[in-house]
Amino acid sequence: MGQYEFDLVVLGSGPAGHHAAIQAAKIRKRVLVVERGATLGGVCISIGTIPSKTMREAVLYLSGYKEHGIYGESYKVKERITLQDLLFRVDPVVRHEIDVTRHQLQRNGVTVIRAEGSFVDPHTIRMAMRDEHGERIVTADKVVIAVGTEVARDPSMPMDGSSVFSSDDILTLDELPQSLTVIGGGVIGCEYASMFAALGVRVTLIDMRQRLLPFVDAEIVEALTYQLRERRVTLRLGEKVAKVELIENSAARHVRTTLQSGKQIDTEKALCSTGRLGASRQLNVAAAGLAVDERGRLKVNEFYQTAVDNIYAAGDVIGFPSLAATSMEQGRLAACHAFGIAAKYAPELFPYGIYTIPEISFVGRTEEELTEQGVPYEIGKAQYREIARGQIVGDSIGRLKLIFHRESRDLLAVHIIGEGAVELVHIGQAVLGMKGKVDYFVDTVFNYPTLAECYKTAAFDGINRLQF
Ligand SMILES: Cc1cc2nc3c(=O)[nH]c(=O)nc-3n(C[C@H](O)[C@H](O)[C@H](O)COP(=O)(O)OP(=O)(O)OC[C@H]3O[C@@H](n4cnc5c(N)ncnc54)[C@H](O)[C@@H]3O)c2cc1C
Repeated sequence: MGQYEFDLVVLGSGPAGHHAAIQAAKIRKRVLVVERGATLGGVCISIGTIPSKTMREAVLYLSGYKEHGIYGESYKVKERITLQDLLFRVDPVVRHEIDVTRHQLQRNGVTVIRAEGSFVDPHTIRMAMRDEHGERIVTADKVVIAVGTEVARDPSMPMDGSSVFSSDDILTLDELPQSLTVIGGGVIGCEYASMFAALGVRVTLIDMRQRLLPFVDAEIVEALTYQLRERRVTLRLGEKVAKVELIENSAARHVRTTLQSGKQIDTEKALCSTGRLGASRQLNVAAAGLAVDERGRLKVNEFYQTAVDNIYAAGDVIGFPSLAATSMEQGRLAACHAFGIAAKYAPELFPYGIYTIPEISFVGRTEEELTEQGVPYEIGKAQYREIARGQIVGDSIGRLKLIFHRESRDLLAVHIIGEGAVELVHIGQAVLGMKGKVDYFVDTVFNYPTLAECYKTAAFDGINRLQF
């Protein structure tokens, strides 16, 4: 190992790279993080997860959304909400998270260099320096590729960052538009569509699939779809975009989206959220003996090791599930394997959190998957409005669904839409992780009044369905 300058070089400082670096540093390895961006923390902290989720909180607060069930739709904390109002909350949170990341790396003795890394060979990285001119070469025993993703650019969509945005630059809007077309009904598209709709922006959401979020339980997606329509979102599902044009006239500039069906949608701004590609273009992986797929992603084994023994890859660059939490865990596990630390490799039981308004979260399989796999299951449901806490917080639309095996009564999944879904799901996740049964929720006592009570109500409902 002494022949290399570092025990580990990590390319990228997002959740995967950050956690790989900290894990290796904890066992006193010499670690270098190479980050090409201006800030640490990756897409997660600078332009993705943290800004969008903070903006969502600002939207919920200022629009008075959570209080509408109690004080009526006209209730607002601020009448005319500006983008500055929203960013007022976003900016300090982002700055704080960047600082925490930097401090953690510093505290653990990790060297950080601002440069774009690429392979010279499996143990040698060329760094194109960002804060100074020129290049530097560094050698490492092990390498973790944690370069994440970048926006997939479609030539038919002129993403100019002023009228047509990607999710990377949507928060640089100078003011809130009156109308917005969102192209792509995946997680990011749905999240932004629902946030802008809650602010009163007229949103049109387009997706070529017949339903939004196909990996989410159909009943939950139906509830979300209903809520989006309630917020005056126009859904164009099963429709493909033919072209997006910037239309200029003497009065203003707007965006015209033409669908293959011939429909035209004119809005002030557009957001293209049509997917992301592995950020591997500049990596020169071929020099290390590696290849990427057509979406720029790397293939790894169960230990996050690539086809070249000393090179690992973690986070969004390896594809599914492309979540911040799973990326962190993959980075940590990659470093564990690289340096022979015993670890448990079972991250398949992870929850999904979708921060639409209302929010969605689930763990385990959907009804559609279980049906396809021929698993005999039963469901149990609770509506927030049946629960005292649901009434207190004024959430009349939330619901929780348990899915359990009809014979063994093993819990199989939990699906939630509504206030607190992304937190509530962890109760179900713990029971699933312990291989618990639906009966657990009947036999236990929850705080009262809480939304967690939904688990008990849903469990009673499910067990009642077993009795003829
Ligand atoms: C709008 C949006 C909202 C999201 N919301 C959520 C959410 O609510 N919950 C959730 O779990 N996930 C969310 N995600 C996904 C989440 O951000 C990612 O799963 C996570 O950031 C992936 O972490 P990563 O470490 O793999 O990569 P990234 O966070 O993308 O970090 C990669 C880093 O590598 C750097 N890099 C790239 N190439 C090089 C190179 N050659 N040399 C040096 N450095 C390089 C980049 O500059 C970047 O800093 C969201 C994503 C977006 C875009």
